[in-house]
Amino acid sequence: VNDLALSDSPTNNILDAPSLWPAQAHTPTVNGRQLVVERGEGSWLYTSDGRKLFDGTAGLWHANIGHGNAELAQAAYEQMLQLETYHIFARYSNDKAIALGEKLAELSPIERAKIILNSGGSDAIDVACKLARRHWQREGRDTKKIILSREFAYHGLHAYGTSIAGLEFNREGYGSDSLVPETARVSFNDATEVEQVIERIGAENIAAFVTEAVQGTGGVNPPAPGYLEAIEQICRENDILFILDEVITGFGRMGTMFAAEYYGLQPDMITFAKGVTSGYAPLGGVMVAPRIWKPFYVDSPDTPIFRHGATYAGHATASAVALKHLELLEREQLVARVARLAPVLRRELDALATGRETITEVRSAGLLGGVTLHESLSAEQICDDLVELGFIGRPLRGNTIQISPPFIVSEDELSDFINAIGEAIDARS
Ligand code: PLP
Repeated sequence: VNDLALSDSPTNNILDAPSLWPAQAHTPTVNGRQLVVERGEGSWLYTSDGRKLFDGTAGLWHANIGHGNAELAQAAYEQMLQLETYHIFARYSNDKAIALGEKLAELSPIERAKIILNSGGSDAIDVACKLARRHWQREGRDTKKIILSREFAYHGLHAYGTSIAGLEFNREGYGSDSLVPETARVSFNDATEVEQVIERIGAENIAAFVTEAVQGTGGVNPPAPGYLEAIEQICRENDILFILDEVITGFGRMGTMFAAEYYGLQPDMITFAKGVTSGYAPLGGVMVAPRIWKPFYVDSPDTPIFRHGATYAGHATASAVALKHLELLEREQLVARVARLAPVLRRELDALATGRETITEVRSAGLLGGVTLHESLSAEQICDDLVELGFIGRPLRGNTIQISPPFIVSEDELSDFINAIGEAIDARS
């Protein structure tokens, strides 16, 4: 008990830390240094210690439409007055979840998609991987269980996301390499190696290949030219389902509604979250191709059931917010705006890298950017310095700074942000 006694020292004692256990945090490092955001407006955030900060990452790549949108708040308020939610289990449903399903099927790059709704990206990945296995079991091909994923991949932190993570630190410490045993990883961007891995493991043992379109948390890594197209082809040839994780890229981040359109892909499933509501409600889901859903929609007593679902799957208020959000995305033509901003970001990043040996690489795709620093600098340190300059960037794997502002960012704000990164880098060089 004594070990846990709280210190009476007013200084930064880790045992006095707030009761809320922060996510992905080395607690002694963040304790006493937390930036507590209290308000947001457009691309700007206001903290409890009086700072005004530019949200250069749109939070965790979610705040695409910007903070403080009154129409979305109103949509949530009106729906809660009418019906907070009703579950969508068995014969029950709610009108907003059904309407959102129709809207998402209309927007989906998958023809005649069925839509599974849940609460976020990690949920979506769990469901997509389970459905891939369920698909092959139902087909009677019961050895097809392995989920292939890529080096540096991030697919959230539920059991499946943790197991297929290509960022090893997210998979470590649980007593085995993977919580779900049937997983395997391939290296980043090498389609030939994927063929070899399939040959070695046997296509008859592989259920699906899961990949982000542009890797996000792994360091903003766009695919090598032709890579995703080749993977899709390899999957087709080997009867492996192709799952595209569009949790970051979905709903406009690439300057197209989905990255599947940007790269000309026809995945069997697309996972989505973040940008479906811009974070105004926790919501995610999976778009499912007819090849997979049709057997679950046969008019027969023997038709199988896919036992997915949670209390908040198809949450009515989250769905109402998503519907309003998608309406605003279209009304404000924000996807076209991203397409216009993408070359501006590219130009700014190229200018940033020019003449700076402390920057080893800049990468971008749509309104996603990454700045990789030379090992003499630390992306974490530079992001801390950026906060002092009034800007939020985020350190990612590979000594990279994440750039993914809200879609509503002005060209001047974007340019000020990139200039601030240059300033922070130069001050440490
Ligand atoms: N997939 C990708 C590509 C992500 O970037 C994330 C989150 O950053 C997830 C899945 C997990 O989403 P969530 O954090 O909503 O569970």
